Amino acid sequence: MTQDCDIAVVGAGPVGGTLALALAARGRKVLLIDKADLKPMEHPDFDGRAYAIAHGCRAVLAEAGLWERLPYAPCPILDIDVTDGKPGQPPSRLSLHFGHSAIGDEPFGWIIEARSVRVALNAALAQSSVILRAPAEATVTRAAEGVTLRVGHENFTARLVVAAEGRHSPLRAQAGIPVTRLPYRQTAVIFAIAHERPHHNVAWEHFLPGGPFAVLPMTGTIAHPHLSAIVFTESDANARLLHAMDNEALAAQAQTRLGGRLGEIELAGRRWLHPLSAMYAARYYATRLALAGDAAHGVHPIAGQGLNLGLRDAAALAEIAGGAADPGAEPVLRAYQARQRPINMAMLLGMDALDRLFSTDFPPLRLARDLGLAAVERLPGLKRRFMLAAMGH
Ligand SMILES: Cc1cc2nc3c(=O)[nH]c(=O)nc-3n(C[C@H](O)[C@H](O)[C@H](O)COP(=O)(O)OP(=O)(O)OC[C@H]3O[C@@H](n4cnc5c(N)ncnc54)[C@H](O)[C@@H]3O)c2cc1C
Repeated sequence: MTQDCDIAVVGAGPVGGTLALALAARGRKVLLIDKADLKPMEHPDFDGRAYAIAHGCRAVLAEAGLWERLPYAPCPILDIDVTDGKPGQPPSRLSLHFGHSAIGDEPFGWIIEARSVRVALNAALAQSSVILRAPAEATVTRAAEGVTLRVGHENFTARLVVAAEGRHSPLRAQAGIPVTRLPYRQTAVIFAIAHERPHHNVAWEHFLPGGPFAVLPMTGTIAHPHLSAIVFTESDANARLLHAMDNEALAAQAQTRLGGRLGEIELAGRRWLHPLSAMYAARYYATRLALAGDAAHGVHPIAGQGLNLGLRDAAALAEIAGGAADPGAEPVLRAYQARQRPINMAMLLGMDALDRLFSTDFPPLRLARDLGLAAVERLPGLKRRFMLAAMGH
């Protein structure tokens, strides 16, 4: 027997899962498929990975019924410090400080544990009308008149299939959509630290020649009242060395960059290695196919915008395709691309330029960026524009 759906979403990561829920909330019949078993991703133990969710994306999570289901309180980001320096030396005195109170009462955004998003997604999906198949793989056939999907022994039809399978999207490859990749030869080592002094909800981006060192405030636990997530970007070789160190040695390397800012520190949870690259797809759609999230674009994590861009793709698709009589019709998909691709490209190029500007030790460039930081600090109008951008407005 064949089941007829409106939209099939392949990939139940944060983007595909949020999109499926938002479409179902609009009354569409949705099939969601993931090749992985989603339950074990809830990680019963604290695992140290976190997402920065910009202020503007809270509504996207709320509309999908996820925000109120987050099991661990999101940590508000109230201030952002941007500094430039060299390891083992105090940051340059020319720096930037963004305080949320300059533009209102709302925080810039929140740091949310990755497992918290997974717990909320699993709970919301279980209570929704979304037909979920995971772990499962789909054989997808697209034609002008519609999509057919074979999932195990089941058959489905849909008007549109959305590729939300992440960076190595098989549906994107099957459609022959070319991608451009910008390799960075940098890898991020990601882990959490428990620290002695409170973080006061400050996110700190410290630019070093090997790559940015980001300290993101997290909500504490009973065991560790003061917690932060560290995204420690270095050259591929140095990152592998860091990742292989024992806890004490890795904490010592982090402390050299922190300069005692948070007092004594120790590692909490696991550590993760993420090779960095940016990439963008030449098109966001093909016949009855739309790309969303990391399947469409990957940005440097320098400003923690990757998931935010994907959540905005989900919101745009839910609105444009979710409200259309035929969600897979070419004008609908063209409208989606026209809304999202220019915004995402601008972010990708901005993050790329930032990384290239800050990952250098060339003295004239160092001087220029320090003067740039100081100039932004003294120009309230420009600073305010940066703050609104960080909030996702
Ligand atoms: C070091 C680092 C730090 C980051 N920090 C931040 C941050 O602070 N804030 C932020 O917003 N973003 C951040 N990002 C980016 C963020 O992690 C991604 O943008 C986000 O995970 C993309 O979500 P997605 O759902 O598109 O893809 P994914 O999270 O990759 O999910 C894809 C899903 O598809 C499934 N899948 C894959 N192949 C198939 C298949 N063939 N069939 C079915 N299912 C399949 C997978 O199992 C998975 O569940 C960071 C990224 C990196 C590398």
